[in-house]
Amino acid sequence: MKPLGPVVGESLAERVRAAVAVAAEHAETVDRDGRFPAEAVQAMRAGRLLGVAVPPEHGGEGASLAELASICSSLGAACASAGMVFAMHQINMANLIDCGLESAWCRELLQRAVADQLLFASATTEAGVGGDLRQSICAVECDGQRFTLAKTAPVISYGEQADAIFATARRDPDAPSSDQVLVVLMADACQLERFTTWDALGMRGTCSHGYRLKGEGEAGQILPKPFADIAAESMVAISHLLWSSVWAGVAGDAVARAQALVTAEAKKQPGALPPSAPKLAEAFTRLRMIEGTIAECLARWEEARANPGASSLSLALAMNALKVAVSTTALEVVDACLMIAGLQGYKNGGPFSLGRHLRDIHSARLMIGNDRILASAGQLLLVQRKPARKA
Ligand SMILES: Cc1cc2nc3c(=O)[nH]c(=O)nc-3n(C[C@H](O)[C@H](O)[C@H](O)COP(=O)(O)OP(=O)(O)OC[C@H]3O[C@@H](n4cnc5c(N)ncnc54)[C@H](O)[C@@H]3O)c2cc1C
Repeated sequence: MKPLGPVVGESLAERVRAAVAVAAEHAETVDRDGRFPAEAVQAMRAGRLLGVAVPPEHGGEGASLAELASICSSLGAACASAGMVFAMHQINMANLIDCGLESAWCRELLQRAVADQLLFASATTEAGVGGDLRQSICAVECDGQRFTLAKTAPVISYGEQADAIFATARRDPDAPSSDQVLVVLMADACQLERFTTWDALGMRGTCSHGYRLKGEGEAGQILPKPFADIAAESMVAISHLLWSSVWAGVAGDAVARAQALVTAEAKKQPGALPPSAPKLAEAFTRLRMIEGTIAECLARWEEARANPGASSLSLALAMNALKVAVSTTALEVVDACLMIAGLQGYKNGGPFSLGRHLRDIHSARLMIGNDRILASAGQLLLVQRKPARKA
């Protein structure tokens, strides 16, 4: 177990602010050195943020998805890598909360996750199937109450820092590629042999190296719900909402930097509107559209949770549209901010620098490729009985 500092503040907002400040302080070196945002994650642990979504009866605070999204956005504005680590961790935590409460092993893990502020990573991407979440080549091999799993994973973010890795796999060696389960592999019972190094354009602090992953455990570590249901009922929606919130944070910080620059220009020439002010207003307008779309989708998510019988097709369409729209628009917003800031944005370092934001936000369209998402959304639209006026 990693040593924890004291809880930094009383309220969730205060604890988030403390972690965000640490993330911002180290964002430049995390990016430059392509290293894990260790200080930010330690601050999340100190503020008990890693287990914040766990229901109170299991030791957590029962934070809502909207609260998690807000934390993702604040962290993303400070350091996109730290924000994405938090988002990816919470997606796995949500899987455990949603599907693991039936299993004694999972319930115990949930309590440990809060007590020890465990960090969860995921291995869904696989060599041979790429970003197709719903296909696996590797398979769980059971022997009595024990299992083993070997997976070639081209990317596992912060795999070496995680306390557990959630991996998709075929249910057994005879199962078809889409008959998957989600398996929790504990760090002390799995080996990671690194075969590629994450020296990427952006999101450099996620340390998403490629690994040959081998793990073992007991049957209770295989989440009881089929992965098809986990993905359709919650994981895809939660992923798209939390990723989008991180990207909104990145775009928001870019707009704030551009605004600070234009404001400084305005002060030099009182009474004259700086020429870039209308462009700034345009970038701000797009940012508001991003934030509005996320808020609307969060409300839809809550509505769907309250009405489990309602159309899952329309929710899936909304969440796919969210991911594609935010990943595309956030990039446009950051790019527009670069045009507003000019060379001061182009140069590395300094309060108006936007290089890190631009490089980080380029990952958004790839993180499950938008082409893939549009292909699956296109299929859904063709089978939807009611037209997609309000999909
Ligand atoms: C910062 C970051 C962190 C990540 N962390 C993790 C992690 O922790 N764990 C994890 O498992 N994964 C992780 N990923 C991987 C991610 O979720 C995707 O799986 C990955 O980005 C897809 O990689 P790809 O583009 O090479 O592969 P593919 O999805 O195979 O796509 C390759 C190309 O083919 C096109 N394509 C493929 N299929 C279709 C189709 N059906 N229709 C249209 N076009 C198609 C795509 O548009 C793309 O151009 C991370 C990615 C990023 C950027």
